[in-house]
Parts: sequence; C-alpha cells; structure tokens
Amino acid sequence: MGHHEIPLSRPSITDLELNAVIDVLRSGRLSIGPVLEEFESLVAQRCGTQHAIGCSSGTSGLHMVLVALGIGPGDEVITTPFSFIASSNAILYVGARPVFVDICPKSLNADPALIEAAITPRTKAILAVEAFGNPVHMDSYARIAAKHEILLIEDSCEALGSSYKGTKAGSFGRAGVFGFYPNKQITTGEGGMIVTNDDNLADACRSLRNQGRAVAGRGSINTGSAGGSWLHHERLGFNYRMSELNAALGVAQMNRLDELVAARREVANLYTQRLLGITDLVLPSTDAEDMSWFVYVVRLAAGFTRDERDRVIQGLRMHDIGASDYFPCIHLQPIYEQVFGFREGDFPIAESVSQRTIALPFFPGMTKREVDLVGQTLELLIAREGLNARR
Ligand SMILES: *Cc1c(COP(=O)(O)O)cnc(C)c1O
Repeated sequence: MGHHEIPLSRPSITDLELNAVIDVLRSGRLSIGPVLEEFESLVAQRCGTQHAIGCSSGTSGLHMVLVALGIGPGDEVITTPFSFIASSNAILYVGARPVFVDICPKSLNADPALIEAAITPRTKAILAVEAFGNPVHMDSYARIAAKHEILLIEDSCEALGSSYKGTKAGSFGRAGVFGFYPNKQITTGEGGMIVTNDDNLADACRSLRNQGRAVAGRGSINTGSAGGSWLHHERLGFNYRMSELNAALGVAQMNRLDELVAARREVANLYTQRLLGITDLVLPSTDAEDMSWFVYVVRLAAGFTRDERDRVIQGLRMHDIGASDYFPCIHLQPIYEQVFGFREGDFPIAESVSQRTIALPFFPGMTKREVDLVGQTLELLIAREGLNARR
C-alpha cells in the first residue's frame, strides 16, 4: 500500500491526545488503571448501554463475545460476506460455522429477508455488520432475532457514532463491538470495546480479557484484589486487555467524537458534490441520516470489470492518491474457499459490488482541494477505462 501524498486514511491526533498519553506515562500506571474505566464509561454513555468493556482490538472483542455467549462447534452464525475478514473469523475461532447471506445492493448490509430464510435449528446468532458505518437494517435484524429467539451480535467496528431510528449502533443486539484501529472514527492505535446491557455477559467478558480471573466488582477491571487472587483463574481466558496508554488516546478521542464525526461528514459531502455528475460512478447510499462515516467507497457502474477497477486503483496510486478495494468478499478469501468450499457465484450481489468498489482517501480535515484533485483524477481514469475497454 505504502504512503501517498493524499493517504487513504489519517488519524486526527492533537495536543489533547499527546498530553493524555504523557499524563499516563508520568503516572506510572500503564495497565489496569482508571483511564480505561473512564474510556469505558464514555463509550457506554455514548451508546446508552449499561456496560462497556475495553479490549485489545475489535477482533478480540468479537471473539470474547462469541465465547461468552457459548457459541461453539455445531452452531451456525449468519453473517455477511461483504465485510472485513475479522467479523467472520471470530465465528471460526470458536469452531462455529459462518453462514453467509447475500447483501442488499443499496445499503451493502446483509439482506434481512435472506437472513430470515437462512435460519435453521442450528442457528445461534446473527452477526451483523454496519458496512462502512451504515446502520440501515439493524432494526430488522433485531426483529428477526427476537422472533426466532436467536442472538443478535453487532460488529459495529465501522459504526461508532452512527444511529438508526433513534437507536445507537452497537446497542441493537445482545452485544456490540467497536474497533479503534487508526483508520476508524476514533483510534487508540490498537483497541476495541464491547458494549452490552447484559450483566452476566459483561462480567464474562471482563474475566475473559484478563486471563479468566474472577471479576472484582462490576464496573471495575478485575485486579484480583476483591474477587479472588491474581493467580486464580476461573475459566480459559485471554490477554485481551487494553493498556492505559491506549485508553488515554481513547478518552481524548471520545471527547472529540462529535467533532470527528462532523469533520468526516463534511468530507463525505464534498465528495458527493464533486462526484455526483460522473455517470459511471455509484456513490455511497446516504439513506441513514445519522450515519457516522467510516470510509468513502464509490463503485464503478455495472458492466465495469474487476480488472478495469483494479487499473483505476493503480492509476490513483500512481498519482500519489491512496485507494483500495474495500472489501474483497470473505467467502472468496483462500482460507474460506479451502475450508468451506465456497466459490465464485455463491453470493452474486456481494461479488458484483465487491469487484467494482474503490475506497477513496478519507479523513477528518481533508481539504476541498484534495477532494477535487481525487475527483478529477478519478474522473480521468474512469474515462480512460471506458474508452479503452468497452465503448
Ligand atoms: C476494523 C474491523 C474489525 C476489526 O477491528 P480490529 O481492531 O482491527 O481487530 C472487525 N470488523 C470490521 C467490520 C472492521 O471494519
């Protein structure tokens, strides 16, 4: 990928973040301390959930939720093939079977009707993903889960700050998980957060992230002081903790969340204005008014091939503009093809969308000049493909 003059993404780090990290370093308390608790309560407040449990990544958060909910071998979990691979990998970690369903071509999220049709007696959960931050259909998934008495787990790693029909992303199901990798709406460098209203699930996740130690008291990280000794392990746990340094970044970024979400929306609006007239381009759906933008992903019109799309991405990169193919379908990743025998054609809408997507540079503070330059370059590259290959 490399670094480009206009990068694909760039975290927004101010003196607030710098000072917060320095304060932690000066405090001498680098893990299992008060800053993580502060970060957790900020995220819980924002999502309107009883609990938030910080962890080392979005992926580890998803893993813990599935373990804590007792999902394992013999169980099926319905999910989308159009996502970052981590959402589905978590299902594999616990030995359960991912059951993919095709997506809705507008929202790019799993099609609710197909989810309902895929439910079997072995289905334990729906693992929903807000693709690119878009929370559309989350209410439908929640209704389907309730009706069929299965769990809804939200992989909200791309959707911090989104809400739909008044409900916050992360709070539609039994648990939601956020990720804080540097390209997300907020970053902690690496990190993740589980949100839930389920007391038992929260306790289980707090124990799981900390080597299976007993939980000292609700709302506090288990130090071993009250709930049992430091070297007493009640279950098979992990080291999925988040350090105080990462949490300090999280607190600073949460205090800027509204500003960051607004800045991203502003860039999305600039892109939409600039690209609206390009007929060979499908722009992202903006049906959800309260969408927190994760990335700005356009796609070439139906009829363009994967090779043409790849050449456009290469062309952007040659012009020193970061671009990427978000996301290749999960079921066509070698590990999934080999283990489950998926093949091309299994999920035609996801595949058709996926082979035409282009993620454009997108970060808070991106200027109109930069957006215009990306738009102009993209327009020229698309015109060239249209002339070369088709018409
Ligand atoms: C980023 C992301 C994750 C994983 O987050 P990490 O913190 O990198 O582990 C999971 N699911 C989706 C949909 C993501 O975009």
